[in-house]
Amino acid sequence: MKLIYVDNAATTAMSGAVIGAMEKSMREDYGNPSSLHSMGQRSAERVRAARETIAKRLGCRSNEIYFTSGGTEADNWAIRSCAKNGEKRGKRHIISTKFEHHAVLHTLQALEKEGFEVTYIDVNENGIVKVGDVEKAIRGDTAFVTIMYANNEIGTIQPIAEIGRLCRENGVVFHTDAVQAVGHIDINVEKENIDMLSFSSHKFHGPKGIGGLYCRKGIILNNMIFGGAQERNKRAGTENVPQIIGTAAALDEACSGLEKNAAYVTALRDRLIDSILSSVPRSRLNGDRENRLPGNISFCFEGIEGESLLLMLDLKGICASSGSACTSGSLDPSHVLLALGLPHEIAHGSLRISLSENNTSQEVDFIAEILPQIVSKLREMSPVWEKIQIGEKEVNTYAIQ
Ligand SMILES: *Cc1c(COP(=O)(O)O)cnc(C)c1O
Repeated sequence: MKLIYVDNAATTAMSGAVIGAMEKSMREDYGNPSSLHSMGQRSAERVRAARETIAKRLGCRSNEIYFTSGGTEADNWAIRSCAKNGEKRGKRHIISTKFEHHAVLHTLQALEKEGFEVTYIDVNENGIVKVGDVEKAIRGDTAFVTIMYANNEIGTIQPIAEIGRLCRENGVVFHTDAVQAVGHIDINVEKENIDMLSFSSHKFHGPKGIGGLYCRKGIILNNMIFGGAQERNKRAGTENVPQIIGTAAALDEACSGLEKNAAYVTALRDRLIDSILSSVPRSRLNGDRENRLPGNISFCFEGIEGESLLLMLDLKGICASSGSACTSGSLDPSHVLLALGLPHEIAHGSLRISLSENNTSQEVDFIAEILPQIVSKLREMSPVWEKIQIGEKEVNTYAIQ
């Protein structure tokens, strides 16, 4: 059976160009970039060029890019550093949202245990943060704001430039987890007033286990780990040269094809959304219809469990997700869907389909044909669905604001 991969928000396939660049680097660049001989210096030069490529694509300088082991490390690093430096100035208040990735939420929860206070802003029923709510939350003792660029479950894109401007005006550091956005939508940290930004290579067809943190010059960044002088003395350890080369190749490829890919993927996405919403009764699209990542589709189907839906799709060769890959395995409904105001019973029946430019219209047609059949089969077996139909159970599909 040919598998259809529509879980690109969890991770993406490496592109051929990326694999090629990495293979070449693994063969050639084994010299340690800290070594003074020619082999070492050649590796150092390639890392320098890769950093430069990435910086250009994000709109910053190359000495503002720090490589990390991925998005999670970049989030942890930025947030802990901002918290500790805020504390030194007597600022122990942090602003974030209810629907961040766990890399952010769990770091914030750890800080709360250490005595920091966090305001978690609500999102509206479309999954968008209101700039006015951020403004209201800012206090004299606010150390920093961390708000994601685009949500990993429902794909909604946040008003980052406006939030950035607000933070700048108030002298508050602004970090954004842009892991879902980098390589998929056009980003310029300078124009968008972003002080710190996390990215992860495997979300844009690069290798896993590497990503980075942009930290604007002038923002104090504490050491991630102590040792050698790598990453401007902030994150010690010999550079992972092939992964760094792969990241630059992937970002370059993603950004140069960005407009074309986004148009292609958006068209596939919209066709699938329209088809499912019209063919499956009591189905709901989560998150704003327009203001979302090109590849993201998030549905809720009343009366069924997301997990059973996933297993049935998998039997047909369709690899999707019930939400975040990181929370699958737990039966709690997603914190993102609850943040939208959805009741538990609806949040349970969620499905995330995340497309990439590798998907074809035939694949989308196949999903459009199979998904409604699976939903009705599961509903036939669902005691909840029976009650919903005879009106014994009233479910409010819309957000309770
Ligand atoms: C995937 C993801 C992360 C984690 O990135 P890793 O590189 O897998 O650690 C963090 N934030 C968001 C929004 C993500 O989608």
